[in-house]
Amino acid sequence: MSTAQRVASSEGSVFDAAAEQAFREEIRSFVREHVDDDLRARTDHHRGLTRQQYFDWQQTLVAQGGGAINWPREWGGTGWSVRQQFVFEEAMAQAGAPHQISFNARMIGPILLAFGTPEQKERFLPGTLTWEKWWCQGYSEPSSGSDLASLRTRAVRDGDHYVVNGSKIWTSHAHYANWIFCLVRTDVDAPKHAGISFLLIDLTTPGVSMRPVPHFYGAHVFNQVFFEDVRVPCENLVGAENGGWTVAKALLEHERLYSSRHGEAKRRLLRLRRLAERADARGRRAIDDPRWQDRIAWLAMRVQALEYLVMRGLDSLERTGEVGPFASTLKLKGIETNQAVDAAVAELLGPDALPADQAYDPESAAEAMGLVPEARYAVEARYFFRGPGIAGGSNEIQRGIIAKRVLDL
Ligand SMILES: Cc1cc2nc3c(=O)[nH]c(=O)nc-3n(C[C@H](O)[C@H](O)[C@H](O)COP(=O)(O)OP(=O)(O)OC[C@H]3O[C@@H](n4cnc5c(N)ncnc54)[C@H](O)[C@@H]3O)c2cc1C
Repeated sequence: MSTAQRVASSEGSVFDAAAEQAFREEIRSFVREHVDDDLRARTDHHRGLTRQQYFDWQQTLVAQGGGAINWPREWGGTGWSVRQQFVFEEAMAQAGAPHQISFNARMIGPILLAFGTPEQKERFLPGTLTWEKWWCQGYSEPSSGSDLASLRTRAVRDGDHYVVNGSKIWTSHAHYANWIFCLVRTDVDAPKHAGISFLLIDLTTPGVSMRPVPHFYGAHVFNQVFFEDVRVPCENLVGAENGGWTVAKALLEHERLYSSRHGEAKRRLLRLRRLAERADARGRRAIDDPRWQDRIAWLAMRVQALEYLVMRGLDSLERTGEVGPFASTLKLKGIETNQAVDAAVAELLGPDALPADQAYDPESAAEAMGLVPEARYAVEARYFFRGPGIAGGSNEIQRGIIAKRVLDL
C-alpha cells in the first residue's frame, strides 16, 4: 500500500506526523519527476501555461489518480476527505506544481455531481476529468459583474432547444476551451434571481464567436464570447428551468473555497526569505536589516494564520457538509496574504523588478541585465493577485457577505 493510499484510508489521522511527512515527500518527488524547469518557472512567476502544457499536466495527474481529487472514486476521483485533499493541494503548491485551472474539477464537476441527471453525468464527467471537455465559465456580462443576477443573455425555448442570444465577458481561457457553462435568462418577467437557468453550451455550435481581451501587459487570458441565435439542446440544462441561481451559488462557494491559495503563499514566503538572504552588490543582506526581519516575521504570521483559517473551514466542511459564507473569509484572507507576500518580493527587488514593467519580454530584459530569476516577473507577479481579488466576487463583495452572513451585522 502506497503512502498516499495509507493517508487516504487513515480516517481523520492525516495529521499523524509520520504519515503526513511521508505523503508530502512522495508528492515532492512526484513533482520533481514530472515538472520540468519551464513548467516550474512559469508557475513560480505566475505565467500561464500553454494549452498543450495544461492538457499534458492534466494527463499526468489523471495517470496518477489525481485528476480530480475532490470527486468520488466511481468517477475517477480519489474519494479523499477534505483534509486529505488539503494536504495534497498544499504539498503540491509548495513543491511548485502548476496550479490546475479550476473550471473542470473544482467547478463544473461538483455541480454535475450534485445537480446533473444520470445521463448528464455519463455524458460529461469522463471528458471533464481528462479535459477532452475543457470548460470555461460564462457568468459575467458587460453590464453584470458584482450584480450578477442582472444578467441579460437570453435563452428562449423553441421546441427541444433553447435559442441563446447575448454576450459573456472576462471569460478566462475560453480560447482554450470547447465547452462553456453559462447563466442565461429564461424568464424576463420573474424577479431577477428567479428567471435564470444554468446551461451547458458546446463552443463549436454555429453562432458562437469570441474575441480576445488582452491584459494590460499583453497576455491573453480573457475573452468576450458572443451568442447569436445559438441552438442548445434542452438536455443541456442543469437543474430546473429558472432554478439556475441555486446552481450558480453552489458553484461560487466551491470557487471561493479553493481560492485561499495558502500553499502558494507558503512557497512564495520561502522565495522571499531566499531573496532576503542574498547579498546585494555591496554585500548587504536584507535579512540582516531589522525592518525586513520584522516584515518577514509579520508575513510568516499571516501565512500561518491563513493556514489555521483554512483548517477551520475544513473542519466546518467535515462536520456540517458545507463551508457556506465562511468561504468568503478564506478567499479574502488568502488573496490579501498572497498579495502582501508578492508586494514584499517586488519591494525587496526594488529597481531590479523594473524590467517586467518595461516590456512584455521581461525574461530577455532581465537576462540582458544579469538579474536573478525572481526579478524577471516580479512586477507582473505583484499584479497577479489583483485578478483573484476581483474574480468570483471582488474583495468588497466578500466583505459585504462576511458582514451580513458571517458576522451577522
Ligand atoms: C482574473 C479574473 C478572471 C475572471 N474570470 C472570469 C470567468 O472566467 N468567467 C466569468 O464569468 N467572469 C470572470 N471574471 C469576472 C469577474 O467575475 C467580475 O469582474 C467580477 O464579478 C466584478 O464584476 P465587474 O468587473 O463587472 O465589476 P463591477 O461589478 O462593476 O464592480 C466595480 C467595482 O465596484 C465595486 N462594487 C460593486 N458592487 C459593490 C457593492 N455592492 N458593494 C461594494 N462594492 C461594490 C467592486 O468591488 C469593484 O471594485 C474574472 C475576473 C477576473 C479579474
